[in-house]
Amino acid sequence: MFHQMYNGFIWLGIVGIFFAESLLSGKPVYEEITPKNEVYRDGISWKKSICHRHSKLRPEWGFYAHQQINRLAVFTLPTEMMPFFKKHINFLADNAVNPDKRRYAVVGEAPRHFIDLDAYPDTSVTTLPRFYKEATERYGEDTLALHGLVPWQIQLTKYQLTEAFRQRDARRILRVAADLGHYIADANVPLHTTRNYNGQLTNQQGIHGFWESRLPELFSAEYDFLTGQASYVNSPQKAAWRAVFNANAALDSVLRFEEKLTEEMGETRKFGFEERNGLTTKVYSSDFSQKYHERLRGQVERQMRASIKLVGDFWYTCWVDAGQPDLKALADYQLTEQETKEENDEKKSWLKRLFSVRSED
Ligand SMILES: [Zn+2]
Ligand SMILES: [Zn+2]
Repeated sequence: MFHQMYNGFIWLGIVGIFFAESLLSGKPVYEEITPKNEVYRDGISWKKSICHRHSKLRPEWGFYAHQQINRLAVFTLPTEMMPFFKKHINFLADNAVNPDKRRYAVVGEAPRHFIDLDAYPDTSVTTLPRFYKEATERYGEDTLALHGLVPWQIQLTKYQLTEAFRQRDARRILRVAADLGHYIADANVPLHTTRNYNGQLTNQQGIHGFWESRLPELFSAEYDFLTGQASYVNSPQKAAWRAVFNANAALDSVLRFEEKLTEEMGETRKFGFEERNGLTTKVYSSDFSQKYHERLRGQVERQMRASIKLVGDFWYTCWVDAGQPDLKALADYQLTEQETKEENDEKKSWLKRLFSVRSED
């Protein structure tokens, strides 16, 4: 049952994309909830192929939230950067979930999305080194990978984006900026900072997708996403860790309020059923979702907003550190036919590798 339920949550996350698009485009929601996303365009049912096989893996910010965060971060940028980023805003949104898609196919991708702070005896600077090199010297790469790498991954991707700006490589700028937005957003999710990432240690299974997919899907239309302008990040290393610790500070309420509310409402009122694409899916009831969301007092909104601001801050910082290259010259950049083909082939290869993994067992 857990798997069934859990697949439902992931599925809701995917459905959330369409909901988001409809919010942005002003089109009715349910017209958009049809199987025509890019995974289906590849002729493969995402839900069946990936979610079922990998339901034991860690879930992710809903696709919708990732896309929104990358999209909205563009509007924090200064005028020198805005035209280029705005022109490619759809690319940045569409590719906001690439790291999640790669997770199943690319070796080493999975641990880049989280960090189990509670796996370490304590998390002070001396015990948990903030730079990757020192951390590997202390724990070794395998241990670090086991407990997640997100704050270090943000630092690495920040470096890569700065290099891409330096080389004025439009395609690489866009690809790496989209990735960086993803990792930063992940670092802001409380349940990405703990071993108990899906409430599996406290009998709260499903809470991950509930918090990061279901709640934004239901309530983010009313969120205030005005964050102000991007500002320069003096220490990307410190900023990445601050994001992770801030998210972790919210973890206690994430779990505690859900537990209390479950006690108060009981399992039967906690869940309901919804029809999605002809499937009856068990979901957190709207009453339970509403009450939980109220108790969190704007927490999901705060974390989404913090993500947007930090993504903008990092993109801006990379550009400054690269010597503020003139992006006007790049504004007309368009993927060539060959590049579009390469992008598509790459995405297909992630799915293909997933299937070759599947056929082996
Ligand atoms: Zn997640
Ligand atoms: Zn992720």
